[in-house]
This record gives sequence, C-alpha cells and structure tokens, in this order.
Amino acid sequence: MLEIKNLHVKLEEEDKQILKGVDLKVEAGKVHAIMGPNGSGKSTLSYVLSGRDGYEVTEGSATLGGENLFEMEPEERAAAGVFLAFQYPVEIPGVGNMTFLRTAVNSQRKARGEEELSAADFLKEVRAKAKSLKIDADMLKRPVNVGFSGGEKKRNEILQMAMLEPKMCILDETDSGLDVDAMKLVAEGVNALRDEARGFLVITHYQRLLDHIKPDVVHIMADGRIVKTGGPELALEVENNGYADILAEVN
Ligand code: ADP
Ligand code: MG
Ligand code: MG
Repeated sequence: MLEIKNLHVKLEEEDKQILKGVDLKVEAGKVHAIMGPNGSGKSTLSYVLSGRDGYEVTEGSATLGGENLFEMEPEERAAAGVFLAFQYPVEIPGVGNMTFLRTAVNSQRKARGEEELSAADFLKEVRAKAKSLKIDADMLKRPVNVGFSGGEKKRNEILQMAMLEPKMCILDETDSGLDVDAMKLVAEGVNALRDEARGFLVITHYQRLLDHIKPDVVHIMADGRIVKTGGPELALEVENNGYADILAEVN
C-alpha cells in the first residue's frame, strides 16, 4: 500500500535537513503508529506526503500501490486514495458542510473515472454515516467548521474520512491537543473504518490514543528516522519509560 524508502527531506527556505532516511511500509489492513519525541519529524513526514509547500525531497521515494506520490498534485493524491486528516480542518464560511462533502466525494469519483453519486444516494449515505458518528443534521448544514468546537471539528474530520473511503488514512494527532473525548472519537472513527483493504498511519505523541486504537505495528521516530519498530508493546514501553531508554539503545 504505502511504501516509503530512504526518504530525505529538507526545508526549502533554509538548509535544514529534517527527514534523514525514513523507511516505512504500511500494508493494506494494518494500522501503523508513529510515535516519537517532539521535533523528530513526524509532522514533516505527513506534510510531505500531503504535498504541502515548503519542503524539498532530496532523496528517496514514497509510493501508493506503486504510484509515485511525489509526482502527483495534492488533489491527485486524494483521488488515488490518500486521506490526510489535517487536510480539511479549515473553516470555509459560506460553504455548507454537506455541499462541501458532496463536492469532495464527487470530485474524487470523477478523477477516478467513476460516476457521481446522485443527490439522493449521497444524502442517504451522509445521513447514515453522520448518525453513526453522533453528528446531528444541524451540523451538516452549517458552514464547514465555522464555529465548530474542537470535538465537532474532530467528528467532522472523521466524517470526511468515512465519506471519502480512502485506501490510506494518515492522521497526525500530535499537536492537536486532543482531550480524552476527542481522542476516543478519533479512535472510534478509525476502528469503524478498519478494513482489510485499507491502511492507516496514525502519528501521535501520546500513548493514550493507542489505548483506543490498537495498532498492529508501532514505530519510534527520532531525529528524522524510524529508529525502532515493534508491536503494541512498544507503545506501552514508551508510556512507562519515556523515550530515553529506546534512544539510548539505538544510539
Ligand atoms: P514532530 O511532529 O515530530 O514534533 P516536526 O516535523 O514538527 O516534528 O519538526 C521536525 C523539526 O523540523 C523540528 O526541529 C522543527 O523545528 C523543524 N521544522 C519543521 N518545519 C519547519 C519549518 N517550516 N521551519 C523551520 N523549522 C521547521
Ligand atoms: Mg511537534
Ligand atoms: Mg508534530
């Protein structure tokens, strides 16, 4: 599914290398978590995968199902099935949430050469999914994210993910200051979408999130590289002992 090889990334503006050879392979059906100390490059990795400006890939590759992500525009990555959770938390005054979702869903279908969903089918689907995420009909009509609480934005983000049915979901929850309720919500959303055809990369600073999302694989990132990979027990080790022991072991 997602394969990252020897990825090196620097800032465009200054001569600062941030990713220094990331290797990572996320298989379909698996949930991979990336943890690591602040400043290790976790968010940079998700930004680079999403195609955000300001970063330069100096070496290495990232492919989705064999397709080179770095040759695609952000919209093309989305159409290919990459979902980045922070891609849509923007507030869009004047655009109803429902309209926004329908446009997003249909533009992806179009890019894939699929037929657009009819208004009736879309409505049916969005209502069912909203209900299962405890999103009320009122929130679907309001302008995208405008005046939404933190929890509502999170719910909405999960709804976007549920509607777009991506192949590869990348969530960077590091700096979002998730409270326990929001964390559970993200976890429930991820768990509901777990599927053998779908991969997840969950980036988090907090072990807590991984109490609710049981990852198949846990990676520790430090200083721009994945320095250790293991099972869920690795997250518990971090919770109990912090990163110091792991970093001492690999240095
Ligand atoms: P993490 O998400 O693991 O906390 P980041 O990817 O946010 O780490 O940051 C990795 C390093 O790159 C940090 O030292 C950070 O200060 C630096 N960095 C990232 N983006 C920028 C930027 N746009 N300008 C300057 N420094 C940056
Ligand atoms: Mg950070
Ligand atoms: Mg971060």
